Amino acid sequence: MVATSETVIRRLYQITNDYEKGFDIQIIQLIMLGLERFNLDIGILSRIENDVYTVLYCVTPEDVELNPGDTFDFNATYCQITCKSFGLVAIENMGNDDKYAKHPAYQAFGLESYIGIPIFVDGEIFGTFNFSSPQPYPRAFEEADIDALHLMASWIEVERIRRKQEQRLKELNSQLEYQAYHDALTGVANRHSMFKIIPADIEQMLRSDGKGSIAVLDIDHFKQVNDKYGHQVGDDVLKKTAQALKSRLDDKDFIARFGGEEFVVWLPERDVEESEKLIRKLHQSVSEVVLDNQPITISIGVCHFDFGNKKDFECKKTLLDFLIDRADGALYDAKNQGRNCIVAVTS
Ligand code: GH3
Ligand code: MG
Ligand code: MG
Repeated sequence: MVATSETVIRRLYQITNDYEKGFDIQIIQLIMLGLERFNLDIGILSRIENDVYTVLYCVTPEDVELNPGDTFDFNATYCQITCKSFGLVAIENMGNDDKYAKHPAYQAFGLESYIGIPIFVDGEIFGTFNFSSPQPYPRAFEEADIDALHLMASWIEVERIRRKQEQRLKELNSQLEYQAYHDALTGVANRHSMFKIIPADIEQMLRSDGKGSIAVLDIDHFKQVNDKYGHQVGDDVLKKTAQALKSRLDDKDFIARFGGEEFVVWLPERDVEESEKLIRKLHQSVSEVVLDNQPITISIGVCHFDFGNKKDFECKKTLLDFLIDRADGALYDAKNQGRNCIVAVTS
């Protein structure tokens, strides 16, 4: 049964409004609606590029072998007629048409009836939306058919732009999200990220009486690096130091740039022995950053904690601030002990 214009409009509205289904499904539904309205057998959304006609989406009867990705010589398709006319073309009976009966597409495929429209992107022809059948069309295409195809094509054109823009917005958004949580210079997490991620870990570890360690790491005599070699070299040292440290950590560990040349390393779910081994590795790792044959050194203050002893953590500050203060105190001691060393305390 041929869908009436009213039904077509209503169905078109339903399909186009259902964007959550995704473009692929919407296009197939649109083709099926077209097939029903036009009472034809084959529906295609094609891409036309450099005289190659590529089937992007198609709906066909079972006995017609046609699949997305199939390509044809564009000049041997009816869509060549459509594209040449820059508008909608409807032909009820190719074989009876003096002009079209000689068209290579008729010779090649023998399709008798066809209705198709170009799809434009940025003012250029992108492809076509077309319907055809090996049977001659039993009635003349009506105004309503033409209107329906125009509406479908407009929707495809607009929806393609909308989805492209949506994709671009998503990319921009994830770029912004990345920038919001990472330090632009070193690429490791920033302070903001630290105050989001570590408290979430702490909450979980409090419930499970977890153990772990937090460390504050500070590059020794970094001011001298800037003074002697300039800010640019200083930046480079910061970057390389961050990368050396990060490369020694596991996925569950976390490093953030805490301030100028200071980093915080969070080692959850580890016992003291494990943490100390890893922290020695971190301390060692920065020696691969060398300036004038002089390896960079860092001082590290560590606070080991055990949430099994919760009574020890009764303090006014947040638990994270408390742990950082403890590690920072240890760092201060490490600096006082002559730098390039590790001092640890236990909470
Ligand atoms: P100490 O061994 O006691 O830690 O000495 P220090 O010189 O490392 O410590 P101080 O805090 O006096 O100096 C830190 C310097 O880090 C000062 C500041 O100019 C520099 N700095 C902070 N952020 C950046 C940055 O993003 N790039 C560069 N190049 N330098 C930075
Ligand atoms: Mg320093
Ligand atoms: Mg410092």
